[in-house]
Order: sequence, then structure tokens, then C-alpha cells
Amino acid sequence: MICPKCGHLMRPRREKEKITFFCPACGYEAKKVRNVKVSRKVNRSVNEGVIVIKDPAKLISLPIDEDAVCPKCGNKGAYVQVVQTRSADEPPTRIYTCTQCRYVWREYM
Ligand SMILES: [Zn+2]
Ligand SMILES: [Zn+2]
Repeated sequence: MICPKCGHLMRPRREKEKITFFCPACGYEAKKVRNVKVSRKVNRSVNEGVIVIKDPAKLISLPIDEDAVCPKCGNKGAYVQVVQTRSADEPPTRIYTCTQCRYVWREYM
């Protein structure tokens, strides 16, 4: 994506579940927003078969990342599941589940 103002290559910026594009040269921000959650969810359910564990009995068997901070309640510590996305050129995704409030979020490595 090219900046319409100065022609510089724009960069994606992730804000929670959305990706916006901005120009590092002039600061222009694109209005076009990609919703990561929706598009990824469709891919996963159809092609990847990724299951997010919500069963507390299974959750406690997962490793805990002590440095993961829950974006919802601020608790430090979350159960981690690492899932490989469907194509090899995509990095694996970490799915975190807050040990306190059970909020689930993803991080792309
Ligand atoms: Zn620009
Ligand atoms: Zn939490």
C-alpha cells in the first residue's frame, strides 16, 4: 500500500483486532481498516480446524506465560496455546487465555 500523499510505502499498525495503515514519512493515516478477527476467524473455522480450549479442566494443563498481560483485566499470567496456521508461510499464532478472567486473545509471532 502506497501513501497517496507522498508516495512512501505505508506500514500496517495493529490495534487490538484491527489493522490500520500509516505513512512513516508524512504521518498520513489510511481510513481503510482491516478487521483481523473476522477474516481470520473465517479462515480458521473452514481450513485450519483450530480449537480454542475453553474447558477449565483442559486449560490448567496448558503452559502458563508469566509475562503475558491480560488486555482486559491487567492480570499477569495466561495459559498459552501455540497453533500453526494453515499455510507454512504464515507464522504460528499464540492463543492466550487469562488465568484470572478467562479472556482469550491472540498474538501473531
Ligand atoms: Zn506519506
Ligand atoms: Zn484477565
